[in-house]
Amino acid sequence: MGNNEEDYIPYGTQFIEEDDINSIVSVLTSSNLTTGPKIVEFEQHLCHYTGAKYAVAVSSGTAALHIAMMTLDLSPGDEVITSPLTFVASSNCILYCGGKPVFADIDRETFLLDLNDVERKITKKTKAIIPVHYGGELCDMDGISYLAQKYNLKIIQDCAHSLGSEFRKGNKQGEYEGQQVWSFHPVKTITTGEGGAITTNDISTYNKLRRLKTHGITRDSSQFKSSSPDGEWYYEMLDLGYNYRITDIQCALGISQLKKIGRLIKRRREIVLEYNNRLRDLPLKTQRTPDWCIPVRHLYTIHLYNNQKRKQVFDYLKRKKIGVNVHYIPVYWHPYGKIHSFK
Ligand SMILES: *Cc1c(COP(=O)(O)O)cnc(C)c1O
Repeated sequence: MGNNEEDYIPYGTQFIEEDDINSIVSVLTSSNLTTGPKIVEFEQHLCHYTGAKYAVAVSSGTAALHIAMMTLDLSPGDEVITSPLTFVASSNCILYCGGKPVFADIDRETFLLDLNDVERKITKKTKAIIPVHYGGELCDMDGISYLAQKYNLKIIQDCAHSLGSEFRKGNKQGEYEGQQVWSFHPVKTITTGEGGAITTNDISTYNKLRRLKTHGITRDSSQFKSSSPDGEWYYEMLDLGYNYRITDIQCALGISQLKKIGRLIKRRREIVLEYNNRLRDLPLKTQRTPDWCIPVRHLYTIHLYNNQKRKQVFDYLKRKKIGVNVHYIPVYWHPYGKIHSFK
């Protein structure tokens, strides 16, 4: 990314065809550039695809995480457990809401949350868990749901990497309790440019998310606090919300991308097989797929044990014009995390 040379291979990129372009152009010449029919249509397709009852499309995955976390009504000092091996947005949403991120360890083979350590980190102040489906490999959601029930915790799945991944027993990510957060940044499975969504099966969470993405305002009379609205012009602001709206232009692209997700997934799987074959005999460790998961890979991670080797491999690949990244620098290693003494 950020390199225009033609022979450079970015670590991830969008896949845009003629029909994607046409879908955008047709919105540009329609009467709604934003808050029109394409948003609703995209949300319906997302529900169908993810297995959730309700979807709220927003301006980014980070915005989605923020308002998902807001629905939990954290009090100062409340703790939320997540993975340190993730993009900073997964835990920043806890800080936006005045909570305290607590990092549980990951499993050395799957790079996903280690549920034994999650359970060890649960305290009286723990309110929620944010499992991150790192690289598109799915966390043990049955195990996490069990812990959530046992300790009365909420779950917000960070599904930014995992659109298309499935559980072997046939259930879908959107069928679980709590909320699922998706990202449509260009490196993710499908793109809307910038964009994200929350899916859920809970109607009151859905209603609150819809308000929070647009200033906390509702025009739905069933949600009004006033018993006698004056007339049809009436609206109420019930929460302190934001402008996290996504546009119809973006959602038209999202609809068009979702139609071809089968092909996008097939291509990702071909690339994974190619890497598996070519790297098989090298002294590397790669991410192991857990037994319960049929993944759509977002990342192909190699684990190098030694920083010196990592730098050598990184520099070598860059010289070969192959765009690699470190996914990720552990969140609590960052200066901000140190200042605020994340544990
Ligand atoms: C991409 C990503 C996000 C944030 O999504 P944006 O759409 O870029 O805001 C959150 N969590 C993880 C793990 C991500 O990879």
